[in-house]
Amino acid sequence: MFIKGDEKLSEKSENYIDESSSPRIVEAPRYGCTLSGAYEAAVGLNEGVPILHSGSGCGMSQLFGANYGGAQNAPGDYGGSSTPCSCLVEEHVIFGGEDKLRKLIDSTIKISTGEFFTVISGCVPSLIGDDVDAIVNEFRDKAPIIHVNAPGFKGNSFEGYELFFEALVDQYLKSSNKKEKKLINILGIVPFQHIFWKGELRAIKELLEKLDIEANVIFGEFDTVEKIQKIPSAAYNIVLSPWIGHRAARKLEKEFDTPYISFPGIPTGPIQTTKFLRKLAEILPINKKKLEDLIKEGERRAYRTIEYAGDILQFDVPNVYFGVVADSNTALSITRYLTDEVGQLPDIVIITDNPPEEYREGIINAITSSEEIQFTPDIIFEIDSFKISQLLKDRPFLNLYASSLESVIKGELETTHVTVSFPSYNRLVLGDNYVGYDGGLNLIQDLFYDKAGPL
Ligand code: SF4
Repeated sequence: MFIKGDEKLSEKSENYIDESSSPRIVEAPRYGCTLSGAYEAAVGLNEGVPILHSGSGCGMSQLFGANYGGAQNAPGDYGGSSTPCSCLVEEHVIFGGEDKLRKLIDSTIKISTGEFFTVISGCVPSLIGDDVDAIVNEFRDKAPIIHVNAPGFKGNSFEGYELFFEALVDQYLKSSNKKEKKLINILGIVPFQHIFWKGELRAIKELLEKLDIEANVIFGEFDTVEKIQKIPSAAYNIVLSPWIGHRAARKLEKEFDTPYISFPGIPTGPIQTTKFLRKLAEILPINKKKLEDLIKEGERRAYRTIEYAGDILQFDVPNVYFGVVADSNTALSITRYLTDEVGQLPDIVIITDNPPEEYREGIINAITSSEEIQFTPDIIFEIDSFKISQLLKDRPFLNLYASSLESVIKGELETTHVTVSFPSYNRLVLGDNYVGYDGGLNLIQDLFYDKAGPL
């Protein structure tokens, strides 16, 4: 289950279908534009202030798209309709928007109580050639500030997340003289885009605290500036995704000599969590007795607790087929937990975050390399929501782990539905997550939320 650096796994699934490479109009992709990803990162920082240099619609679409789509979350004091924006119009396309941006940054720093400012350029300034870097340079001694050049046409939200870290490294972070042996950074979880981001980051942090390892999760943390400044001091960067955050990790390795290791997703359930911890113990100074005690206690509790769900799992449909429609991180963790630990049979896994070609073989192998059962689902990379709805028809699965877009066709598909991926317009997520020894239990609870009974 481990992918170290860019290491590729060899065997390719026969069931692999690449549906996403042909250029076409896409219906309701499950991510936003590049600006969206940079905005999600900027707002994901507690006390982080995004400053949009774009048309006003770019900001409003983030409120309804990124924030509400990200499990019905309000974006906080500095996002959404409160986002400072230069609101470029035709006049600026002709004469440039630099002066307006200068005034906007100046007034935002003066009146905002935020701590870290991220200027994000959208499509318009990139096309008209505003020198945003030069303007942001005028404010570097007034507040912690970076510029992310993120025109929407450059890519998707995940590109924006990588660009955010690249801007941090290039414009703000300073090399550290010494590495802290027990400090690691966590990468690969994109605020709002990964709908459980807050709970996932907190749960990872709390899990590692038990082993005296400090996980600098960066997003959703207080003391934002201090946490950002610690990034170069970390002994390792830990990437919890088969592809997202890898570019950021490589950049941090190049600039600060920080090695990285990646995992296919967040560890869900005892098998994945124990493997995750043992792998970390190979590279970090973790006390062996504490590690073994934590593993023993976690496994014992998780396996004892799942017994309470034993009857309903058996009475429902034993070894039921299931389908997954989710980003790579979520799809990998959930599929492997249900397959390896619950005995459910993966029928179809649709990956919706459009991973680059070079990572797809690794994703397929991470899904199919179960040591517990030999059962291979159809694995499809697809971003078009209409096509996804067609792909789900006439399948044997009875449980579907997907986004809220699929919840409206669950009757037609005759399936149970659990919202686990973006967008989530039907599930408010404040701290729910599927991380760690209890993570699988949480998933099973969610499965039976509206399925158990009525009696
Ligand atoms: S694609 Fe361009 S115009 Fe549209 S929201 Fe993104 S940055 Fe703004």
